[in-house]
Amino acid sequence: MSNNTLNLTPELYQYLLATSGREHSLLAELRAETAKDSMARMQIAPEQGQFMQLLVRLMNAKNIVEVGTFTGYSALAMAMVMPAEGRMVCCDVDKHWTDIAQRYWQQAGVAQKISLRLSPAVDTLTELLKQGEARQFDLAFIDADKVNYDNYYELCLRLLRPNGLMLIDNTLWSGQVIDPTDQDVDTRAIRCLNQKLQSDPRIHLSHLPIADGLTLCLKR
Ligand code: SAH
Ligand code: CA
Repeated sequence: MSNNTLNLTPELYQYLLATSGREHSLLAELRAETAKDSMARMQIAPEQGQFMQLLVRLMNAKNIVEVGTFTGYSALAMAMVMPAEGRMVCCDVDKHWTDIAQRYWQQAGVAQKISLRLSPAVDTLTELLKQGEARQFDLAFIDADKVNYDNYYELCLRLLRPNGLMLIDNTLWSGQVIDPTDQDVDTRAIRCLNQKLQSDPRIHLSHLPIADGLTLCLKR
């Protein structure tokens, strides 16, 4: 027994997946197809997708914004469990990756819920605010370029309704956040946001050591 967060061994991680993993066959197929891409490690972990599905269900989230879609795994996972009238705005800049995403969304029958915006996400989020979408979203998932994380946080906070939830991915950044010799721009951006969230009075906060670190911010 331990009241510290366990350092998962590969065997314990396999046990966790074997006893609780419920990855939908299409999600598994998308994971396998994405594995051929040299950037496959950007995809969220299966247990993280399953956790996000549980959050979507728990909140009965009908309006979701995703920043960083890649081949569409996280969007597909969430869209699958949204109510039929749910809608999701997905932000990305890469046509090749999001073509794969759209193929899977079609196959899963969720494509009509998802509006893909191929532009820098700061522009798309700013546009949404201009169109009167402030406080209209139940959930925001941030998973694109790390240097813009603070911009995404600020813009998404405005897009969320009170009690809306923001999920920020990769917030432990393979542990590099605690390496003082790592002064990479991405590492610094994540470190800086983590520090800012610690005392941000606009949110309730929980930082989970799931996958590469997932920060939950509940808007007050
Ligand atoms: N959530 C995805 C992984 C996202 S990977 C999944 O579960 O599979 C990060 C994505 O952010 C990449 O697809 C990349 O094209 C996108 N991205 C990078 N810079 C961006 C920007 N400025 N605006 C929007 N998307 C961006
Ligand atoms: Ca990620």
